[in-house]
Order: sequence, then structure tokens, then C-alpha cells
Amino acid sequence: MRDWAKKTILASGALRLAGDLHGPSAAILMYHSVLPDPSQQADSLGGIVHSESAFRAQMELLARDYHPISLDQTVEHLRTGEDFPKRSVVVTFDDGYVDNYEVALPILDQFAVPATFYVTVDCVENKRLPWPSRLRFAFRRTKQASWTDSESDAKIDSTTNSNPKPWNLSSPLNREEAFLAACDACCQLSGAVQEEFVGRIEHELQTSLPEQSGSLMMSYKQLRELAGHGHIVGSHTMTHPNMAQLRADDAQRELAESKQRLESTLGAPIKHFSYPCPALEPHWSERTLEQSRAVGYETAVTTNSGLTRRGDQLLCLKRLRPTKTLEGLRWNLESAFAGRAV
Ligand SMILES: [Zn+2]
Repeated sequence: MRDWAKKTILASGALRLAGDLHGPSAAILMYHSVLPDPSQQADSLGGIVHSESAFRAQMELLARDYHPISLDQTVEHLRTGEDFPKRSVVVTFDDGYVDNYEVALPILDQFAVPATFYVTVDCVENKRLPWPSRLRFAFRRTKQASWTDSESDAKIDSTTNSNPKPWNLSSPLNREEAFLAACDACCQLSGAVQEEFVGRIEHELQTSLPEQSGSLMMSYKQLRELAGHGHIVGSHTMTHPNMAQLRADDAQRELAESKQRLESTLGAPIKHFSYPCPALEPHWSERTLEQSRAVGYETAVTTNSGLTRRGDQLLCLKRLRPTKTLEGLRWNLESAFAGRAV
């Protein structure tokens, strides 16, 4: 739909009216990174960055026209069956970037918007970006004209007897295709095996993120301060795999170890989990749901799109992607509350 049409519909109040008829629900918003200039990190973080000015305008909108509630309040409403306040919104952040603390926190506090920060524990502890950023950087910045995935091609060779097929890296589109293929393979790995895979590709493409990119992740001290400001810290796994694509024992380690490490370092219970969705679907399953329950999580959020309503299962909550603009967020929220898919 055209922007002018969206503006006309928003101004008419029709969506808002429809929303009131749809019954109480909460919109859990999924943010990642907020930077003064998102283009600075385009080759590593890609499209997940909000500009500081847009984020400020979005939080001002939430405080003025919606009802920001915390994730713990959301749980309380779901447990008791008590209706959500009208137009409830929950702000969440994935991954654990330092800008969450440096840029987003003062804005959240200014507008009294409570937030939940899901952190990738291995990335926080070892000061390195989650693997999708490392692979994106490698494929965008490499000077190689082509790339042959030695390991997956070896597998193809044995079954089809075909020659290894090199990926052409001559155009941005070619590079993106090769990057996405590498993501499909890497998201099925975790821990040391994943690290080896990423290291091999960085070596093959003869590139690696600059040392200082590690300072883009939050520290434990900063996580403690977020909690001190009344915000919630949750787990986003140890090493950011696709949980549904892992072996059961690897998935178990990602769920349990990240919870234990955060709890022992922060000295507080970690009750909330967020499923990474780096590539491939599904990114959660009945098995991971049962595992997350057994490990002791109260809630888990996914990247499936939708609102949270009474009766929803706490361990696979849906979220909405906030668009990068103020009007886009307003449109998505009003559409979702009015019962339209976004
Ligand atoms: Zn993530």
C-alpha cells in the first residue's frame, strides 16, 4: 500500500476503532541495535540497526499513544488471565550490542519504557560479534573474485560426483547469495564447531572483522546496570545457532549454559529466552519448547510475527518487527491491533 493511503487510513482512526473491537492483546517489539549513524556498521550488522533519531521518535510515540509494559507484567497478565491494558507494547532487544546500553538506555529511561535485553553470552564474554555479522563482513569486504565452500562441496562431490562449484563474488547480489548460503550452513552449528566454520570462511575469503568490533558488544557490568535501571536481562543462547536445527544435546547446552552463566555473573534469576533466527525455518520446535521449560525458562520469544493474547503459550511468544521509521511502526502496530497480518 502507498504511504499516502496508509496516512489517510491512520488519520481516519478506522484501524484504531477496529483494534478496540479485537480484544486486549500486547505487541512485543523486536529491536537489535540503535546507532547515531546506522550506515557505519552496514557491512557487519546489516539492516538490523535503527537510527537514534528514529528510535527516539518511536519510544516517544509508544509513551504517548500506547501502553508500554514490561515482559514480567506480560507474564502476569497471561498467568492470571487478566486483560492486557489497551494497546500494550513490550520492547525487546536481541543480541547484546553495546549501543543498547549507550544509546537506547537513556532514551528508554527518558520515556519510562521498560525493556528486555536478550544477550548472546559467548559474544559478551569473548567480545565478538555474533557469527552472522562476521560472515556478512567477510562476504562484503573480501577481495576474492570467487569462493568455493570446501567442506560442503566435498559432501556434494561424494553424492553427485560433480566438481566443486565456486560462488561468483563479482557483484553485491552474488556476494549476498553466497553469504546466505553460508548462513544456511552455519546456523546448524554451535559452539567450537561453529567457530571453526566461521574461522575457515574468514580464512578462505582472507578477511576478518577489525579487532575493535568486539567493543560493539555489552559487558557484564553494563548488563548489571541495565538491570539496576529496572530493565530485564534474558538469554539469546551461547553462540546464536538456529535451535531447531541443532542436535538435542547441543540445544540443551545453549539453553542451560547461557542461563547459568548469566545467573552466576549477574546474581539474579534469568527467566526469559529469545530464539535466534539467523537462517532457515523453523527456528524453534516442540522439542526446544520442552527443553526450555525443563531448563527453567518462564518465557521464550520467537521471530514469528503476531500479537500476544490471553491463552498464548508462554514459551513461543510472537513478536513484531519495528520498521525503521516512525510512521512504519505506527502502521504496523495499528494494523496488528486491528487484526491484520503484518
Ligand atoms: Zn539474534
